[in-house]
Amino acid sequence: MCGSLFENIMARIPNHVFVVDDGSCFGCGACIALCPVDALSLDSLLAVVDEPNCVHCEHCIPACPVFALEIKPGD
Ligand code: SF4
Ligand code: SF4
Repeated sequence: MCGSLFENIMARIPNHVFVVDDGSCFGCGACIALCPVDALSLDSLLAVVDEPNCVHCEHCIPACPVFALEIKPGD
């Protein structure tokens, strides 16, 4: 399936983490279906990322109407 293809061709950004701003996210779900590796899920109106499986492709980031998604420096 396409998830494994993306995992093979996408590389994580070293020393960066994908984060959800839980103060901004209101659980609209727009980002969830866009993730090619199913790293996003919805839990009580909050997007939750399975960060180790996020490939930092950034596909989901423009979909968020409140700019709650970001890849930033971190472990
Ligand atoms: S950046 Fe977004 S769409 Fe890409 S793998 Fe991570 S959670 Fe999924
Ligand atoms: S698109 Fe933004 S507001 Fe909507 S669930 Fe995703 S992170 Fe939350």
